[in-house]
Amino acid sequence: MNMVLGACGEGSETLLHGEFGAYPPKGTRYALSLTRTELHIQHLVPKPDTDHRTVVQLIDVVGCHTMRSHTIADQSAFFCVYIYPLKKKKVAVSSWRMRQRTARTFQVDSAECYEDNQILAEKWAAAIKCLVLGIPISSKTEISCSLLPHRRRLLLLLNPFGGKGNGLQWCQNHILPMITEADISFNLIQTERQNHARELVQNINLAEWDGIVAISGDGLLYEVINGLMERPDWEEAIKMPLGILPCGSGNALAAAINFSAGFEQVLGQELLTNCTLLLCHGAVSPLDLVSITTSSGTRSFSFLGVAWGFISDVDIESEKYRHMGPVRFTLGTMVRLASLNTYRGRLSYLPAWDSTAHRPILRSITMAANGSLPFQRMPLHRTVSDLGLCEERHTTCFQGVQPADEPTPSPSSPPPPSSFHSSSFNFETLSEELVADSKGPQEPNPSVAAPAISPSARQMHGPVDELLTPLDQPVPKSWVTMEDDFVSVLAIYQTHLGADLLMAPFACFNDGLIHLCFIKAGISRAALIRFFLTIEKGAHFELESPHFTHIPVRAFRIEPLTRKGILTIDGERVEYGPIQGQIHHGIANLITGMNQVKIATF
Ligand code: ADP
Ligand code: MG
Repeated sequence: MNMVLGACGEGSETLLHGEFGAYPPKGTRYALSLTRTELHIQHLVPKPDTDHRTVVQLIDVVGCHTMRSHTIADQSAFFCVYIYPLKKKKVAVSSWRMRQRTARTFQVDSAECYEDNQILAEKWAAAIKCLVLGIPISSKTEISCSLLPHRRRLLLLLNPFGGKGNGLQWCQNHILPMITEADISFNLIQTERQNHARELVQNINLAEWDGIVAISGDGLLYEVINGLMERPDWEEAIKMPLGILPCGSGNALAAAINFSAGFEQVLGQELLTNCTLLLCHGAVSPLDLVSITTSSGTRSFSFLGVAWGFISDVDIESEKYRHMGPVRFTLGTMVRLASLNTYRGRLSYLPAWDSTAHRPILRSITMAANGSLPFQRMPLHRTVSDLGLCEERHTTCFQGVQPADEPTPSPSSPPPPSSFHSSSFNFETLSEELVADSKGPQEPNPSVAAPAISPSARQMHGPVDELLTPLDQPVPKSWVTMEDDFVSVLAIYQTHLGADLLMAPFACFNDGLIHLCFIKAGISRAALIRFFLTIEKGAHFELESPHFTHIPVRAFRIEPLTRKGILTIDGERVEYGPIQGQIHHGIANLITGMNQVKIATF
């Protein structure tokens, strides 16, 4: 939280104002004011200070719960706000900001009876939750829980082997506590093999879920998208809000979501916390997909990009350094630079604008400078859920919820309030009773149990590729074709190629564009190193290298003329040979957490 002098930021209309006690009760009293974007907390007792107040930015808040005291005679109600503000960390001479959980509990005690205090606590909790979820309220709104949508139910799919293999631990320690604070119900399934997630989503009942979230790198989301597009009801299925929580080594889409929220570019757990925070906020943006056809006629749907040459070589060849996490790409880049290859090929594309048309201005780069509940550390089993399947036996309440960052109450303190939320779950109960281990009896929830489907039995659906001709026929006349020697060809549709690779800073989730980027042979090794070093901040465009070209297109075809090479779609290796793709504007939905400002849509 930031300590600031009086003045309010934007959205400064006061929606609610009140005076409350604190928990644990030490005689402290606060004046609270809620605006659309901030919660202002001002000390009244013991030290009234009208010049200073703590300002909580609501973008840092994931949720708010109401509680009551265990002591029946206590007529107070409580509400607890869960906040993940950026705090300064100092180690030796360097300092940086990272998010740290804070829970602030306020005591509502103005009325004589509990029921009246509870109504007021619920009103504050409802207002805070509405603002977190982007539900518009004003000072004239009659605020109550009825404004809130039903609890979101998310299907969480976790690849335990993504990245360095710590997804499960991060899920337990970071993701589940946060989404529980945000009142999100979930069913968590660990994948057992490649394509498991793809098969699972083909058979789920869409009506049971408000979103599907991949907890891994980009590869698991690629499986989910293609599984949905293989369903006969693909048109409806692909509208399911999709989320990604970065626990892989290639976390490009998560970095793009983080970037679009205006957060500082971060890696590892910090990126995960930012993305989980945004998931809790829940706003959804349309997402472009690109339909890709390979030489065997296989069609798939891509959300990130197609790579050939240097970038795909590094991606695939660095698999052997997987245990190093994202550092594998840096090492792979060094190795590849030492033995630089060039590839001859034909590159064809349909420009997004013809040269005589007015060319829209792409979004300028803005690099913003801003940047537990007491869970038991039990091992998570293959599936864990707080949803209906465990309703009768497993609905559990936290007893004596106490914000982790507040001091342990002294023996003389009243017992802590307990949560009202039946949603809260207990890992111990669930993991022990619910879950079959992978060799035991099958999935407890029939809606997510799926028979294995052999790859040959798969049938891809999806919209017609009206811009493409078959790969064995020439491209349409309106296309541009060039034959050359390339170091790298990349067709990308997100800002990021990796968590710290800002490849196309002006890309938007639904701009209807493929950003075709290529580096031609002839570039010196030194220039190439400089080029890759500047991608981290998206500054490679400023180098104005004559060897680097960026063209916004709607469709492309790559025809390799060098016999050996590597092609990837969203970081996954595919057969080598001619490949082509075209954009399908906004056909999917992505949970980005914040309402997108659409600057360039076509
Ligand atoms: P990373 O970024 O670390 O590569 P991904 O999410 O991209 O992580 O996953 C890498 C690959 O692992 C993908 O091809 C994905 O389909 C596959 N995969 C998913 N679940 C499993 C599993 N349980 N065992 C092995 N591979 C899996
Ligand atoms: Mg785009």
